[in-house]
Amino acid sequence: MAELRVVVVGAGGRMGRALIRAVADESRMRLVGALERPGSAVLGMDAGTLAGIEPLGVAVTDHASDLFDGADAVLDFTSPAATLAYAELAGTRGLVHVIGTTGIEAQDEETLRLASHGARIVKSGNMSLGVNLLAGLVRQAAAALGPDFDLEILEMHHRHKVDAPSGTALLLGEAAAEGREIALGQHSVRVRDGHTGPRERGTIGFATLRGGSVVGDHMVVLAGEGERIELTHRAENRTIFARGAVRAALWAHEQKPGLYSMADVLGLST
Ligand code: NAP
Repeated sequence: MAELRVVVVGAGGRMGRALIRAVADESRMRLVGALERPGSAVLGMDAGTLAGIEPLGVAVTDHASDLFDGADAVLDFTSPAATLAYAELAGTRGLVHVIGTTGIEAQDEETLRLASHGARIVKSGNMSLGVNLLAGLVRQAAAALGPDFDLEILEMHHRHKVDAPSGTALLLGEAAAEGREIALGQHSVRVRDGHTGPRERGTIGFATLRGGSVVGDHMVVLAGEGERIELTHRAENRTIFARGAVRAALWAHEQKPGLYSMADVLGLST
């Protein structure tokens, strides 16, 4: 197979820099572009230097169309507005678009679905093997224990994170809802404050903590009468997400256009 030509968008971000390192480490890929928003302070910098490794001979630019014309795959951990625009561009060019961006609203999913007629999109709130395995365990536990066990999802992330609950918490909530054969949107409790009354049976609760430099902790609690189960994942660094994105791009290149999940990539889909 020829090397996959990859563009990293949001190159100056925390995940962008981890993605540049992961692409540089992968012999089946070549970094052909690094993109940032117009006006970014890192425009013109070498992508390798930006990522803390040897220079790669690829300067950061804000010319999306030119870069996408010469690429096979785009790795995108940016913001919802940026990701929706890049999905449309990737769709018209039939590229692989790996989307790690979280906080995309349900009504904007349609834009991604339309783009996936042309693009091979892999979208996941969490690209790590461990969390996707955890989602499978949560689905199984929720199905086996049913609504007699109250299900709560607790997450903690670094102080810079802008959306809540995390994409991963929502992914785990979806897995729990699937296990119980209910729609998450109609059964989730995302905030509690003041006199809330007793817990409603069968709901899925979310709790959010923010602080420090925590990369991402998630705990799913299934609390019954007299016993409880706690399923936990802790991300120690961003390499796990970047490696997952690289794996997703290599996998998606071999697929038909469509909208895929990380569970599809890892062969964990039910
Ligand atoms: P970050 O450090 O803020 O990085 C985002 C980068 O994207 C910034 O450099 C930002 O530039 C850039 N950007 C924004 N709009 C752009 C545009 N139109 N074109 C090009 N670049 C643009 O955030 P992060 O911690 O890396 O996280 C990024 C996203 O990935 C978040 O949604 C986060 O929740 C998600 N995430 C997902 C996973 C997963 O496994 N799915 C794992 C970790 C993080 P400015 O700073 O100039 O705005």
